[in-house]
Amino acid sequence: MDYAKANFGRSFIVRFDHNDNIIDNIIKIAEKEKIKCAWFWCLGAIKNAEIVCGPVETVVPPIPSYHNILETNEIVAVGNISTQDAKPALHLHCAFGRLDKTRVGCIRKSSDVYLTVECLIMEFTHIDVKRMPNPGLGINTLFFKKD
Ligand SMILES: [Zn+2]
Repeated sequence: MDYAKANFGRSFIVRFDHNDNIIDNIIKIAEKEKIKCAWFWCLGAIKNAEIVCGPVETVVPPIPSYHNILETNEIVAVGNISTQDAKPALHLHCAFGRLDKTRVGCIRKSSDVYLTVECLIMEFTHIDVKRMPNPGLGINTLFFKKD
């Protein structure tokens, strides 16, 4: 476990429109606004996504279990923005619901909006955090630089 303190920075309220790609657009906002660290929440619906629903087995490093969301689903999502190799890096988990089926997954690729998605991005400042490969786990995790 490791942690660092941070201060609240700016907040952004975003309306994503029909066919917008959530991941691409959050990266665009992070680049334009020079966001280095933030948490965000989304609600609405998306009509496709490539997600990881846990590992195939409980081993380290994990073997991701990929699934495709091919129909429109209601979503509730939470994610964060950090940087990796000086570029915005997202980690986004999402609950998908359609009729009586619910899944939760880590969105990796396409995430196209159906009708609208509403998003709150909360920036944090006075923190130096980067996403980097964690050799002990075989995944990228957050690392904090402290004075
Ligand atoms: Zn994840």
